[in-house]
Amino acid sequence: MSSELSYVHPTATSAWGTYLSQVDRVIPYLGPLARWSETLKRPKRALIVDVPIELDDGTIAHYEGYRVQHNLSRGPGKGGVRYHPDVTLEEVMALSAWMTVKCAAVNLPYGGAKGGIRVDPCQLSRKELERLTRRYTSEIGIVIGPQQDIPAPDVNTNAEIMAWMMDTYSINSGATATGVVTGKPIHLGGSLGRVKATGRGVFVTGREAARRTGLDLRGARVAVQGFGNVGSVAAELFAEAGAVVVAVQDHTGTVFNGSGLDLAALVPIARKDGVAAFAGGEHIAEEAFWDVEADILIPAALEGQVTAERARRITAKLVLEGANGPTVPEADDILAGRGVLVVPDVICNAGGVTVSYFEWVQDFSSYFWDEDEINVRLDRIMVNALNHIWDTADRHGIGLRTATFAVACERILAARQERGLYP
Ligand code: GLU
Repeated sequence: MSSELSYVHPTATSAWGTYLSQVDRVIPYLGPLARWSETLKRPKRALIVDVPIELDDGTIAHYEGYRVQHNLSRGPGKGGVRYHPDVTLEEVMALSAWMTVKCAAVNLPYGGAKGGIRVDPCQLSRKELERLTRRYTSEIGIVIGPQQDIPAPDVNTNAEIMAWMMDTYSINSGATATGVVTGKPIHLGGSLGRVKATGRGVFVTGREAARRTGLDLRGARVAVQGFGNVGSVAAELFAEAGAVVVAVQDHTGTVFNGSGLDLAALVPIARKDGVAAFAGGEHIAEEAFWDVEADILIPAALEGQVTAERARRITAKLVLEGANGPTVPEADDILAGRGVLVVPDVICNAGGVTVSYFEWVQDFSSYFWDEDEINVRLDRIMVNALNHIWDTADRHGIGLRTATFAVACERILAARQERGLYP
């Protein structure tokens, strides 16, 4: 039995390599279900599509697109679509696998999937972006659907792109299918609270981890890497709870203010021009971000940011993974050895997919909830899931990441076993 797939070449720090080593670490805690563990190391289905579009200047451009369904044992595939120049099949595989684990960790009735296009969306006009999205949706139309696989926003995709996806799928299938994607605009069956849900979930798990470890949020210093939909919302909620956001980094720069950044001023500027355009703090070197004195660190950008070398320098006692896969395995060990608590991505950022689930349920029942109800239910699901994971970690004497994998993989593999192998 081998877990080597011919079509990928994982390394110790690549996203798929990171995921594989996380699976290896959980196998000893799976009991007899470990017999099925190889299933976690092989995506069920991976689709690569050519996405040709006509650019505004009349030339034809081709982009590589993907949709990977990692595991469908517990329900339809679920996971976002990412537009980024560095997207690869291997990265999408890892992101889809983390969705499998994440959905099971919060006990949503979904498997895991992810999609992406290898493109720099900043280079495209709005019309080109629409053509790209519609053609990609048509190409992956053979594997998505409200009962099959439900895309959602991820890095560089948003509600507008979800509207185009929903419209394209609906036209191709001959019926309006709001439940085919989540993260849609409110007028198209979107859910209140969805935009802020991932950041809110990061805050909720961070608040609980702080409470359990005796860290007072009032006056706690927070550093945030990535100031998009996840990082900026989490920062605002921590500031509301009395914490002081001392450093923020995005792709344009890094801004620091030891007495606290004025988020009300920073957020709109960052959204428009990036944090580099903000005058209310000191602009420091990109690498200096990791040396900032902080109590809480929130990596909310891309994979592989917390390297072994950076893990030795981090001053925070609590790391909240807003991003997917921000910490490489060696860094995980270094942080654990230094007594830094890491709330892993697969529970920390599960707020987004949880409210996606609420959206999907609301679409099916055509009955919509108010925002308070959504936030209360989100809080309850996240807190209950984290408590269960924490108990598992204590019982086995393991870290929160392996504990989250243990809780999730037991559910996934139990479903796998009960369904049985066909034929
Ligand atoms: N892209 C988000 C994630 O990584 C949300 C996925 C979803 O809502 O399906 O969790």
